[in-house]
Amino acid sequence: MQHGHEPQPTVSTTPRPRYRYPRIHLIAVGLCSAALVLILTLVPSPDATATKTVRLKPDALASRDIGSDAANTPGPDTPTAADSAAAVVDQMLADPQEAEALVADVPGYDWQEQTVKRGDTLSHIFKRVGLNSRDVYEVMEGSGDVKLLTRIHPGQTMRFAIEEDHLVALEYVMSRTESLLVNATDQGYRAEKAVKSLTPFTSYAEGTIDSSLFLAAQRAGLSEGLTMELANIFGWDVDFVLDIRRGDSFRVIYQELHLDGEKVRDGNILAAQFTNQGDTFTAIRYEDDAGHASYYTPDGDSMRKAFLRSPISFARISSHFNLRRKHPVLHTIRAHKGTDYAASRGTPIKATGDGKVIFAGRKGGYGNVVILQHGQKYRTLYAHMHRFARGIRSGRRVNQGQTIGYVGSTGLATGPHLHYEFYVNGAVRNPVTVKLPQAEPIARAERDDFMLVAQEMVGQLATYAAAMESERLARLD
Ligand SMILES: [Zn+2]
Repeated sequence: MQHGHEPQPTVSTTPRPRYRYPRIHLIAVGLCSAALVLILTLVPSPDATATKTVRLKPDALASRDIGSDAANTPGPDTPTAADSAAAVVDQMLADPQEAEALVADVPGYDWQEQTVKRGDTLSHIFKRVGLNSRDVYEVMEGSGDVKLLTRIHPGQTMRFAIEEDHLVALEYVMSRTESLLVNATDQGYRAEKAVKSLTPFTSYAEGTIDSSLFLAAQRAGLSEGLTMELANIFGWDVDFVLDIRRGDSFRVIYQELHLDGEKVRDGNILAAQFTNQGDTFTAIRYEDDAGHASYYTPDGDSMRKAFLRSPISFARISSHFNLRRKHPVLHTIRAHKGTDYAASRGTPIKATGDGKVIFAGRKGGYGNVVILQHGQKYRTLYAHMHRFARGIRSGRRVNQGQTIGYVGSTGLATGPHLHYEFYVNGAVRNPVTVKLPQAEPIARAERDDFMLVAQEMVGQLATYAAAMESERLARLD
């Protein structure tokens, strides 16, 4: 079944099923009818992980290469597969228990296998297969990545091919996906790293919340990591502690990275929807030309806000913004132009937005204070700091979330706390209630490309959801 050449509809953000979906196999179905997992056993994507090169198309998946662009234009996407797979592999922990030979069955060699034991050195292992320290020396004098052999640790596997007391080849299995192969050549030993790339599969999960997002996500088969990611993506719009109601729901398209038909770990969330108290938020992952991935609404607005609501995580507000407050130290009516967060001395204070330090020093009742300028319009102030973070001084650029200093009680303060002020066009505002601007939308140069991805993903969310629904109805019959 191939509909790869059907005309593309014009860009629309209305989710509607546009495709037929052949060969959808339900491998796992959640325990509860409200939370189902649908995993598509599809042709793996050649474009590795979630990037804009992903052009999944349910009608095309089963029959052809999904690296092809949705509009059937040739895409320059080939080199990314190996690159991103290698990056993924670099992050993986070695898992010697599940080690397997990457190059084991080289014909003609009779391989002897050794497991690295606690306290083992190369010499110990070489000795066990009948080699001596001279062989160790020659191998370590070899070319290529031989140095990797100094990093052996217990549980890893080494395989030796020995002919007439001479080591002809050695394989050192570093992890499930990485191996070092050392071969005897005329110029001595030569070592080369072999990397198996992980194959991304696209999966879908959806669920309805009874009590918490975590329980519903677990029922839907989402890992803890993916659930955290989901909460992070929507955390700017939804407070997952206070705002969640029974009946809230989510849909997620994400990647699973497989090796030899087995899942190794989850990849990225490609698209997701969260419905909270009747409002539906949709997020699309997009990686720009510089390789920065971020989540956007289908219209290209950032899912992030330009400012964190609070400069300290999980801190209690000890004094609210109040322009007619009686000052606790001066005992006079004095505007409280900010919000106070009680926290112990030394608690890190985060820059709430990307910006530039325009003041870092001592200033009267504020004590040690940092003032940040964010573009033309916004300014934030952080007072009573115990000390500044390293490198924080006038003119320095800071990123959202970066630690700029530590809670203290310098200046006019009764105890350790952060006094935080928020200014819009020079006028002070209540940091707790001020409407925060969105972070930068999709760059203009990438907009067209993004819209194609967004349209595709919104369509897929609807398609998968419809497939789940008909599956559910079929099971009720
Ligand atoms: Zn204050």
